[in-house]
Amino acid sequence: MSIVPDASPAFIPHHEIVIVGAGFSGIGTAIALIRAGFDDLLLVDDAAGPGGTWHWNTYPGVAVDIPSFSYQFSFAQRSGWSRSYAPGRELRDYAEQIVDEYGLEPKMRFDTRVHEASFDEATSLWTIATSTGEITARWLIHAGGPLSQPKLPDIEGIDSFTDDTMHTSRWDHEVSTAGKRVGIIGTGATAVQVIPEIAADTAHLTVFQRTPIWCLPKPDFPLGRVGRAGLAAIPGMRQAARLASQAFVEATFPVLAHFHRWIPGTDALEVAARSYIRSQVSDPATRGKLTPAYALGCKRPSFHNSYLSTFNRPNVALETTSIEAITPTGIRTTDGTEHPLDVLILATGFKVTDKDALPTYRLTTADGTDLADHWESERFRSYQGVATAGFPNFFTVFGPYGYNGASFFTLVENSAAHIVRVLDEARRRDAITAEVTTTAQDAYMESILARGPLQVFSNPTCASANSYYFTKNGDVPFRASTTLEAAWHSRRFPLSDYAFSN
Ligand code: NAP
Repeated sequence: MSIVPDASPAFIPHHEIVIVGAGFSGIGTAIALIRAGFDDLLLVDDAAGPGGTWHWNTYPGVAVDIPSFSYQFSFAQRSGWSRSYAPGRELRDYAEQIVDEYGLEPKMRFDTRVHEASFDEATSLWTIATSTGEITARWLIHAGGPLSQPKLPDIEGIDSFTDDTMHTSRWDHEVSTAGKRVGIIGTGATAVQVIPEIAADTAHLTVFQRTPIWCLPKPDFPLGRVGRAGLAAIPGMRQAARLASQAFVEATFPVLAHFHRWIPGTDALEVAARSYIRSQVSDPATRGKLTPAYALGCKRPSFHNSYLSTFNRPNVALETTSIEAITPTGIRTTDGTEHPLDVLILATGFKVTDKDALPTYRLTTADGTDLADHWESERFRSYQGVATAGFPNFFTVFGPYGYNGASFFTLVENSAAHIVRVLDEARRRDAITAEVTTTAQDAYMESILARGPLQVFSNPTCASANSYYFTKNGDVPFRASTTLEAAWHSRRFPLSDYAFSN
């Protein structure tokens, strides 16, 4: 259904709505829109298929680290996950199944990279320049995800290594690490999954660590045939599992991170995490190097049951001397040691709050204001992570101050509900523009930032964490909120927070 049924041809876009990104953000938003009667939409993605993160990340050991009972859409809950924390392949299959079930395939254009989007005031349309042609749309939704742009390390000689090298999110399955001298740079959540998976087969594995990660045990178990059958057949079982899982996720991130000052006994968690490291790593020097000096929560912790113990293996070395250069044959550390390698793995993460990462293309309003420049000069600001004052007809599923750290699927459903509510109202009014008011955005930002002192991020030890949660200005653009509160506001915000025009 179109919002402007009688518009003249010049004002009729190719599609009413364009969604950039066909990962779970784009898929979930598209489904919410279609259910609300907005059928004329197109999803574009530079990948060859749907799934976003789960399409690109196929490295050994890839799996979710939020329980699968939570890491799925509330409206498409599965009982067929093989484990309590599903492997990545199952998430990719899940994305493909949902696309099939909801008939999204014809609305998707793959292998299409967006280069630029500009808003034309005269027509109130977006023109989106892509690698496969120009598209116009009334409404533009950025669903690009925060972890899509691989970040290569700023290390001298990065291009000089002559043997096999790959970033974890572009894993080359033609390359074998078995029997090879392998080096891996980085010890974030991805490395935590790769290292135990490949270590045993390598001739030697050197892990180059700059900052250690808090690694906690993972309640990861196979669901088995009986477990899966129980989830499918027993009334209320799936809902009960989800409820328990949601409560666990809520307690371990949003509540702990955003209301840290109010929660008693957070020190005990760190004590338990240290004791876990002691139980896993036999060499005291290695153990010391693997123990973070910053508070648990400053940086995203990881969950794995064999990451830490992998460092007990005789063929695995933890190197904490800084890297001086990557050379044609390996890595040279600042103490002059050469580490000869056959395979170099870059587990160096993603551009998250970098200027060219959100969005990944130039996006300008009618007066030429560029969104990235705007956020650079004004610092990140938004309304519920979904809308930005000054940028009409544009929405972000994962915008700054929108995500509270719970399951990503909860965020997608909240953002989608918010967007649908605005577009519904625009349709009711026959409006062709909608833009959040500066007053509403300011009030939202004030309410979120007021909670800053309660957050774990205000702990001074966070300064040494090298956490991508922090922007270069020291801001942490999370939504300091419980999930229920965020869900409520996404669906109940006053519609007067938006200005509509015909
Ligand atoms: P990351 O957390 O950003 O970790 C990157 C690692 O590379 C860090 O250890 C970093 O060290 C190191 N590094 C970067 N540049 C370097 C340099 N120039 N020299 C030396 N070391 C360098 O990236 P990630 O591990 O890919 O994880 C990113 C996010 O993806 C996670 O936080 C999580 O949200 C998500 N993820 C989720 C799952 C899951 O749910 N299953 C799995 C994997 C990842 P510093 O810490 O010192 O910067």
